[in-house]
Amino acid sequence: MSTEAQAGKGSHGLNIILLGPPGAGKGTQAARLVEERGMVQLSTGDMLRAAVKADTPLGREARLVMDRGELISDEIVSGLIGEALDRIPLSTGVIFDGYPRTAEQAVSLDRLLAERGRTLDHVIELAVDEDALVDRITGRFSCAQCGAGYHDRHKLPARSGVCDACGSTDFKRRPDDNEDTVRTRMAEYRGKTAPILPIFDARGIVRRVDGMASMEHVAEAISDILGQH
Ligand code: ADP
Repeated sequence: MSTEAQAGKGSHGLNIILLGPPGAGKGTQAARLVEERGMVQLSTGDMLRAAVKADTPLGREARLVMDRGELISDEIVSGLIGEALDRIPLSTGVIFDGYPRTAEQAVSLDRLLAERGRTLDHVIELAVDEDALVDRITGRFSCAQCGAGYHDRHKLPARSGVCDACGSTDFKRRPDDNEDTVRTRMAEYRGKTAPILPIFDARGIVRRVDGMASMEHVAEAISDILGQH
């Protein structure tokens, strides 16, 4: 398929938001869309973690806030998104993962898109059960080499301590994946992020997907929403 046919809207790629509480599977589904459709994933969480790892001034400022599970300022994350969008051609579709997270960020995203001739096509809400999420998040870890995902209770490597995908024996966990911080992240989602859904609902672009279904089912449901693009 040509890049233009994949883009679907003539020369414009789709712009979509994956919205849902921590652990809903936004990152997993975004990675699939990147793989299958050549879209670009913009995850503010990944960008902030990269800044923390690189020990930049932003990273040093962000680390403590992230470790508590609280939100980084709207200005900073919207700045990161604007800079990232400038590097992506209009023909390439974009998945916003973990952004916008507040009403102010939703307004900023509209402006950032409009300034670049983009429009928001879909907001996909991953609906999930909070208690199941705490279990999902507090057990997750990944290969430090290739990023393959595992879980203490649901998906251990076939050979203990060895990555199935690349053979590495080096694994990592996110420092904010502990129960206290997860509860704070959930509360931030409930209090600040879920309330932005009506803004998009009023435009008729919100689609709800059952995020408790299997990864494959969720992927299929999202694929149906995006259609042939
Ligand atoms: P999750 O969705 O699993 O909580 P993310 O990787 O999206 O994780 O985000 C991790 C942390 O990074 C958040 O708890 C918050 O501190 C910060 N963060 C990420 N995106 C944003 C954003 N859009 N606005 C404010 N803070 C953010």
